[in-house]
Amino acid sequence: MHLIIAQTVKGATLTDASSTFLKATEDQCNIVVLKTDDETYYVGGAYGGSKMAGNGKMIGTNVVNPMVNEKVDEALGLPKGVGTLHEGLEAYMGILNSPGSPPGTPGNNDKGYMAAHKKANELDPRHNDGDGTVKVSSHIRVRNMGEGNKPKSITEEIIMTNTKTGVKTSLGSFTTKQQ
Ligand SMILES: [Zn+2]
Repeated sequence: MHLIIAQTVKGATLTDASSTFLKATEDQCNIVVLKTDDETYYVGGAYGGSKMAGNGKMIGTNVVNPMVNEKVDEALGLPKGVGTLHEGLEAYMGILNSPGSPPGTPGNNDKGYMAAHKKANELDPRHNDGDGTVKVSSHIRVRNMGEGNKPKSITEEIIMTNTKTGVKTSLGSFTTKQQ
């Protein structure tokens, strides 16, 4: 778990994204938690929804893989940190606009996640979903076979292709246990 402390540079003009982010770090009632996970592949990050903590504070959690986000920023030609900032803004918007919303899953996307995602994209228009310009594909690299010739685990490499430039960026290899 990381606590984020932000400070403005004197004389700097803040964008909507950075002033909202600063507000989020100063907000004593609505707490954004960015959990980092280097082992799992997330498409940008995962919206974890928000919960009321015992002390009356709302806690919103998003999970990010910072190593993947850095490569996604690179593949999309965005400044470093845009993807992770988006996740922080998204968690904060989720608390403010849909307090108590569930994590973003296919059945729950309309209960807070999609609205928070859209709002975060408005606050920081540099972030986009790469629609049409990127293709994400996974390639099985290793199959660890177990009993009965069933795979115990599979290691896949995730590759992002910029369809405009043809440049391929590896987002890393991830191993998942099989049932
Ligand atoms: Zn999002």
